[in-house]
Amino acid sequence: MDAPSPDAPALAGNAALAARDLKHVWHPCTQMHDHESIPLVPIVRGEGAWLFDADGRRYLDGVSSWWTNIFGHANPRLAAALTDQAQRLEHVIFAGFTHEPAIELAEELVRIAPPGLERVFYADIGSAAVEVALKMSFHYWLNKGHGQKTRFIALTGSYHGETLGALSVSDVALYRKTYAPLLLTPILAPSPDAYEGEAGETPSQVAARRLGELRVLLERHAHETCAVIVEPLVQCAGGMRMYHPNYLAGLRRLCNEFDVHFIADEIAVGFGRTGTLFACEQAAVAPDFMCLSKGLTGGTLPLAAVLTTEAVYAAFYAEYNAGKAFLHSHSYTGNPLVCRVALETLAIFRDEPVLERNRVLAEHLAKRLAPLRDHPHVADVRQTGMIAAVELVADKRTRKPWPATERRGMRVYLHGLQNEALLRPLGNVVYFMPPYVVTTQDIDHLVDVAIAGIERAVA
Ligand SMILES: *Cc1c(COP(=O)(O)O)cnc(C)c1O
Repeated sequence: MDAPSPDAPALAGNAALAARDLKHVWHPCTQMHDHESIPLVPIVRGEGAWLFDADGRRYLDGVSSWWTNIFGHANPRLAAALTDQAQRLEHVIFAGFTHEPAIELAEELVRIAPPGLERVFYADIGSAAVEVALKMSFHYWLNKGHGQKTRFIALTGSYHGETLGALSVSDVALYRKTYAPLLLTPILAPSPDAYEGEAGETPSQVAARRLGELRVLLERHAHETCAVIVEPLVQCAGGMRMYHPNYLAGLRRLCNEFDVHFIADEIAVGFGRTGTLFACEQAAVAPDFMCLSKGLTGGTLPLAAVLTTEAVYAAFYAEYNAGKAFLHSHSYTGNPLVCRVALETLAIFRDEPVLERNRVLAEHLAKRLAPLRDHPHVADVRQTGMIAAVELVADKRTRKPWPATERRGMRVYLHGLQNEALLRPLGNVVYFMPPYVVTTQDIDHLVDVAIAGIERAVA
């Protein structure tokens, strides 16, 4: 059977497509058995913030399709750039050869990035960017004669991807625990997460205290440490936990003082998500490595980039026989189609007042969520730009969470599906991370559905 064209009515409905899918496809982040009772939703078309299934029902994409989509589904500008590039050059080996989309994208990324990040290494997915940053940091120190530096410091509750290296520096038990025997052992520094602060402590006080603890770790481990890796401002997969920008400023100072790299994983928070183009801007710091992906192509195609400094680049630059070259390659590195779409994504940032518009949307979202603070099963409502999260608990006073086995968040998800909203809580955390093309009415819809879903979840 031919695939239905986007304009024609779908040939097969949800049930038929789901049945075919479940015969052969294995989905990520899914216990496939769940689909005996939870519907699998076949999407046939997207438009702006909305997704349309094979039965003609629609869903407002409250999670930007895993935090990637910033300018809406089937965005006409991105689609046009993609088809134009497809007719010129779809791919070429990126060793020994180059092409204008990759060159121009590197120029543009350097132009918009925090100062000092002047070298761009491409990869295909966020996890691969993290692998590149870890290897590059280690290899820098090796090339500089510090081969004893082999370890990394990561924050508790962090998430940097699920390939083995990226998973090694992640601390979300759900993803890490099973594979722990295969992983490197990072040095864990306590997260500056404001929710985990002590009673009465402000977010900046939590940040200051956590910097003190990080200093102690660096005093003990800096000699064997390549880098500290963090998700700037928001630890997303770890439950949308947020922290004060002072932590990043202090981290920059500590990394300078102790001679370790600062890796900023801006894969989820980059490209305007937190209110500034990059989250690091809010602390006026530049990391030694910045990992980008997700929003980089507007959510259209997989692409990642690692930006680093001239000093790092220079440590690899030598006669061939010195054996100092960086060793990392993927078949599709620097793919022209993907680079073209990324360039068009950055052009939208130049042509439209994206951050200003987001500010208005974020304020509206904050206003609509505020009443939830008084809810008897809500311990925290927090927001950083276009990320907002509601922490559900069994007991508001003690902040005792619901047991994960009760899958309260799943009830919110199911309620959303029945009510034209894609909300996909992380455990007990109901969050909002919509594409930037949502309207205030769309936000009203998402919040209304979420509130009703929360009532069902806590009942
Ligand atoms: C999603 C994510 C990654 C991994 O990116 P993938 O493209 O899913 O491999 C890494 N770091 C952070 C902070 C992320 O949110």
